[in-house]
This record gives sequence, C-alpha cells and structure tokens, in this order.
Amino acid sequence: MMNQSLLEIAYLIGSVTFIVGLKMMGNAKTARNGNLIAAAGMFIAIVGTIALHDKPVTPLIYGLIFSAIALGSVVGWMAAKKVQMTKMPELVSMFNGMGGACAALIGLMEFQHNVGNTGSMITIIAGTVIGSVSFSGSIIAYLKLNGTMNKPLRLPSYNIINTAVLIGVILFGAWIIYSDTAEMAIVYALFAIAILYGVLFTVPIGGADMPVVISLLNSFTGLAAAFGGFLYDNKIMLTGGILVGSAGTLLTLVMCKAMNRPLSNVIFGAFGEGTASSGGPEVKGSIKDASATDIAILMNYSKKVVIVPGYGLAVAQAQHVIHELEQLLEERGVEVKYAIHPVAGRMPGHMNVLLAESNVAYEKLVEMEDINPEFEQTDVVLVVGANDVVNPAAKTDPSSPIYGMPILEVDKAKHIIVNKRSMSAGYAGIDNLLFYDPKCSMFFGDAKKALTELVNELKNLS
Ligand code: NDP
Repeated sequence: MMNQSLLEIAYLIGSVTFIVGLKMMGNAKTARNGNLIAAAGMFIAIVGTIALHDKPVTPLIYGLIFSAIALGSVVGWMAAKKVQMTKMPELVSMFNGMGGACAALIGLMEFQHNVGNTGSMITIIAGTVIGSVSFSGSIIAYLKLNGTMNKPLRLPSYNIINTAVLIGVILFGAWIIYSDTAEMAIVYALFAIAILYGVLFTVPIGGADMPVVISLLNSFTGLAAAFGGFLYDNKIMLTGGILVGSAGTLLTLVMCKAMNRPLSNVIFGAFGEGTASSGGPEVKGSIKDASATDIAILMNYSKKVVIVPGYGLAVAQAQHVIHELEQLLEERGVEVKYAIHPVAGRMPGHMNVLLAESNVAYEKLVEMEDINPEFEQTDVVLVVGANDVVNPAAKTDPSSPIYGMPILEVDKAKHIIVNKRSMSAGYAGIDNLLFYDPKCSMFFGDAKKALTELVNELKNLS
C-alpha cells in the first residue's frame, strides 16, 4: 500500500516535470534545461516503476529489464551525441518509430489477458494499430530523409487503395473486439496490416513534406502511448502520451499554416518531387556576381543589415562565423537583425537552435510577420543558404507549388546579397526569380568559406 502511494507520487512528479519541461522548451534560452527536467522526471518514473511495483518479478525478468534499459540508453545516447543538426529530423523519426513499436508491442503482449473485457480490448486494438502505423511510417520517413528512398512511389489510384486498407484495418479491429476471440494469429494479422498501412500512407508523400509527416506520426505515437496509459491505469504514460499527441498535432498544424497548405494536401499532394523545370515560372534574365570586397564595403556603409539564415547555413555549420560578422558590423554602428522564417531549415525552430549555439542574442531573431515591414528600411539583406523561404513565386506565381506560402519579403530591401554554392533549387525543387532581381547580387560559395572571406575583408577596412 505504502509502495503504491510512493509510486503515485513518483508518477505525479514525473507528470509535472513533463509539463514544466515542455513549457520551457518553448524558449531557446530555457529549452535545454526544460529537456533535462523532463528527462529527470522520466528517470524518476522508471526507477519508481521498477522499485515500487507490487507484482512478483523473477531475477530473470529483472535481468531482461536492466539489459533492455542499458542497451536502449547506450544506443540512444550514442546516436544523439553523434547526430549532426541537419540530420536531426532523421533521428527524431527513428526514435518516434521505436515509440510506436513499443506501443504496438504492449497491445500484442496484453491481448490474450484481456479477452472479454471490451474497454481494455478497445485500448489494446487502438494502441496496436496506431503504434504499428507510426512505427512503419516513421521507418519509411527515415529512409526518405536519409536519401535511401528519395522518390515518392505512387501506385495508380493510391488514394483509393490506402483508404480501402485503412477501412479494412478499422473493420478488422472492430471485429476482433466484438468477437471475443483469443487467437493470437488474428491480432498478429491486424499488426501486419497496420504495418502495411503505415508504409502505404508514407511512401507516396514527397521528401519535402517529411518533417510534417514525422510530426503527424509523432502525434500518433503519443496517442498510442496514451492508450497504454488507459490500459494500465498509469498516469505518467497517460500524461506523456497526451502531451506528445497534442504537441505533435499542434506542430503539424503550425507547419502546414507556415507553408499555407492544408494537411490533406501534404498527405495526398505531390509536393517536393518537382525539378526546376516542373515548377515555377520559366526564368529569363541574367544574374550579377559580387565579390567579398564589394559586399564588405556595401555593408560597412549601411545603417541596417538583415541576415536571412536557411538550410545551407546549417549544412555549412556557418553559425559561428555569421555571429562574428554580426558583431563586426555592430562595432561599426550597423544595426543587424536575423529574419526567421517558420519553416527555414529542415525542422521547426532549426535556425533558432543553430544561432543559439553560437550565442546570437535571442532578441536579434525576428519572426517573419515582424521583420517583413522592416525590409523597406533595410540597406542590405544577406540571404545565407536560404532559397524557398525568400522565393517571390510564392506571392506572384499561382502555378508555383509554393504559391500561397508566406515568405520573407527580402525583395523590398535596397540591396539583396544571396550566398549559396550554385544556382541549384531549394527543397521544393523550383527556380527562384529573386536571384534575377536587378537589386540582387549572388555571392557564390560554401557559406562558411564565403562568410569567413567576408569577415576578413571587413576587418581589413579601416
Ligand atoms: P532551401 O532548402 O529552400 O534552400 C537551401 C539552399 O541552401 C539551397 O538552394 C542550396 O543551394 C543552399 N546550400 C546548401 N548547402 C550550402 C552550403 N554549404 N553553403 C551555402 N549554401 C548552401 O532552404 P530554406 O531554408 O530556404 O527552406 C526550407 C525548405 O524546407 C522549404 O521548402 C520548407 O517548406 C521545407 N520544409 C521545412 C520544414 C521545417 O520545419 N523547417 C518542414 C517541412 C518542409 P546550393 O546547392 O546552390 O548551395
């Protein structure tokens, strides 16, 4: 009895740390500590469960539990330590898939113990189906993000096939619940069809939409874990599952809003597989080239410079040198701000995390809605490794796949400098008319190398 009360207290502490941690993750300054607090809460809950539960456990079972914890901790720790920032969505996708698999396995383990109990069977079947879909969908998302499966694969009438499989899964699950069958083969069959549905659901979606899909699958995993919480009457599983489920859903909606696309368009659309010629207007005109010396002089005599960071900044790991450039300019009396687009990079908050790593003051990062009215008073905009988020086609070309996506309106500034390595397209695979704007000059090269050159030129100016 005493143990049970202590366990409930451990779960309560864990639940509170999840909520506080999540709240702290909303701000770059407190996010790291928020993560640690939530992890500490999880640790308390795990230790509490092992030490305080009231079921008899053999030494063999303890051995298995500790081996699994040790294996999972070592693999997770090493993967998280090694991962590059630009590969983060892949890691999240893999971890999410493991969460889905755990939720599905709970269903398989508990199935035979709950036959006849309709309430428990509903949670078991729902957890198994949702967890399995999340598992296989996340693995496909992982393979797409790491380039192993880089083309969306669409069967003819795939929307009809997918909908038919989904209806089949739901009907089969409902039949299992009401038939009171205790046959394991049947629940394994459900598990297999749900896995298949996860694959069919994710395979047709284009690579550019994978972060949205991962976030959606993340919400599925949360929901599946919450079903586990219902089944075991376990408060911390329930709280954790609900938080993951709702955070994943909100994030999915935020990303869709930032791209101005409904979720149905992400799931059933064909975004992100186009090539430069398949989307956007035909580009006519010439481009201008600028040297580091020209740009250094231009910036030196400016009053206001806005930096637009994008995916290329993360690839080049140029966050430290861009901070150095900002400091040099400020020493010369130039006002410097960073314009942050909500889907710049490859995950929400990517640029905020990257720039926080090099100690850029949080106040200097200005959200899109706030910075857009300032471009008209900006002398120089420096776009570093960004492309889609500054593409005017989103506003001017109804035939463009990104039409309607809110963008950073850098074309309103007096001078635009774009740093990238070539004329290649961004993630959406379309040309960018901005590069042909008479006010725009291209500054070709890897972001880190090019910016280092610019910093050196600036230092040479008296
Ligand atoms: P983009 O992917 O549009 O463009 C990045 C540019 O960086 C490329 O054109 C590339 O050109 C350049 N680049 C790559 N490596 C380097 C380097 N080493 N040095 C300099 N430049 C480099 O990036 P954005 O940030 O503008 O847009 C993000 C895209 O991702 C959008 O389409 C968005 O919708 C999508 N997306 C983002 C999500 C998020 O949550 N952040 C979620 C879902 C989708 P080059 O090869 O010529 O150098």
